Amino acid sequence: MATTVQTTDLTGQMLIAGAPVRGAGNEIRGIDPQTGSPIEPAYAYGDRSHVEDACAAAADAFSPYRSAPIETRAQFLEAIATNLESLGDALVDRAHLETGLPRPRLTGEVGRTAGQLRLFAAVLREGGWNQARIDPAQPDRTPLPRPDIRQRSVPLGPVAVFGASNFPLAFSVAGGDTASALAAGCPVVVKAHDAHPGTSELVGRAITEAVASSGLPAGIFSLLYGFGPELGTALVTDPRIKAVGFTGSRAGGMALVAAASARPEPIPVYAEMSAVNPVFLLGGALADRGAELARAFVGSLTLGSGQFCTNPGLVIGVDGPELETFVAAAREAVTASTPTVMLTTGIADNFRGGVAALEAEAALIARGSEADAPAAPCRAALFATDAPTFLGSAALRSEVFGASGVVVRCSDAAEMLRLADSLEGQLTATIHADESDHGQAGELLDVLELKAGRILFNGWPTGVEVGHAMVHGGPFPSTSDSRTTSVGARAIERFLRPVCYQDAPKSLLPSAIADGNPDGLWRRIDGNLTQD
Ligand code: NAP
Repeated sequence: MATTVQTTDLTGQMLIAGAPVRGAGNEIRGIDPQTGSPIEPAYAYGDRSHVEDACAAAADAFSPYRSAPIETRAQFLEAIATNLESLGDALVDRAHLETGLPRPRLTGEVGRTAGQLRLFAAVLREGGWNQARIDPAQPDRTPLPRPDIRQRSVPLGPVAVFGASNFPLAFSVAGGDTASALAAGCPVVVKAHDAHPGTSELVGRAITEAVASSGLPAGIFSLLYGFGPELGTALVTDPRIKAVGFTGSRAGGMALVAAASARPEPIPVYAEMSAVNPVFLLGGALADRGAELARAFVGSLTLGSGQFCTNPGLVIGVDGPELETFVAAAREAVTASTPTVMLTTGIADNFRGGVAALEAEAALIARGSEADAPAAPCRAALFATDAPTFLGSAALRSEVFGASGVVVRCSDAAEMLRLADSLEGQLTATIHADESDHGQAGELLDVLELKAGRILFNGWPTGVEVGHAMVHGGPFPSTSDSRTTSVGARAIERFLRPVCYQDAPKSLLPSAIADGNPDGLWRRIDGNLTQD
């Protein structure tokens, strides 16, 4: 069903269980990061009473939502996707105005967001998420009979989602966290990101309309505006919230982890935080195409002003003429780059500070030009250092969010391996290698698979395919829980838990684990996968 939301309708209100509600706190407006000008309308912050209302509605809606037919849930996700697409230019224009991200990128993000929702609809219909298992009773087993034991997955309960600034659609109100939580059967309460309040309202209303048209309880979705340390903390500590999804800074993510752990009932926080996404350039690849690799690297580094969690902020190679060819071509490409716009002036300030911290500890190779800078500018920056300096510097090992990178010159392959071993957890690690490099690449792979969620060969980490095999996660500090992914089909597992039914009366068994397999699922019976 097509949505009726128009961008001109923006009200500045929150959405609590289907009802527009005006906050009474501080007013914020979207800011055009190109010009620094505020954008109407004003959004008034909510307070603890709004958190209470949204969480109470989510808790009430949980039981009917999780009991609704799976097909209804799948069609609901598809309805959100259709409603988002129906917003067309209105959504892209508003997101462009509030974030400065280019329209083609945002058009792609609408497609990705809708695609994610449809992927989870397909995941629901396929049914593997149930993890259905049956160990049939063995009454004659000796010395003890075996009871009938069956297992399936159930949703955790209401989930708090913090919209990310850098993906105003794909990681925000209807983004991957919301889509996977709703798919799992969990109501969602979103705290909107201040960097795109109007975009958030448009998307929130598209979801609200889908809830209504699907005949589902209104409490399964609410959208709140407020100050993170106040409203966000109140949300995470509300006893009705059972899990949290977050993308943003390490400080913000860790504050939510601390708040969630300090609750009388601690809950999981799936926070995606910070990574430098190392790129290893091996000798054969460097000798073959050093300058070409450098141009591609700078393209990836500066894409979207470097505001990707997978931005390649660290390049590692063995010192020598081949690496110098790479550095010279990268210098040329960075120097030729013009200033681009960042998401907010705050993020641009952080970027400036981060670049200054790098400059204090490494040699500057190149800066992008200063001409015609927007209100929230990003001037690309590239630094170089040697491995001992890198290993001894906390600043050089930390993420600088934006188009900034460090090249580390190693003395030999053994030092490169030691450096890889010293790295913190990463979302991605990349190896550029020719066939002649495969011996060394294999040694690196052994180290990197314990460091990163995704390992790429001969590619660039920006751009995350949404599918069944994708992992967008990794050891701390890239995320707060390395066992999961926030992108792709397996993201649903974050919001499910297994339940075992022992000797349950047949008439009470959920259909996923009932005799006769009424849902037609692939199930493990006595450990064997079967559709019987
Ligand atoms: P952020 O400051 O972490 O904020 C993200 C969300 O979390 C916002 O809604 C924020 O609310 C909330 N929040 C932050 N601190 C909180 C706290 N102590 N308690 C409760 N809620 C809290 O991230 P950002 O605004 O997107 O960008 C700031 C910096 O984060 C960037 O400069 C960059 O360094 C980093 N960042 C990293 C990634 C990545 O993918 N690695 C992505 C985006 C940003 P309020 O705004 O109301 O505080």
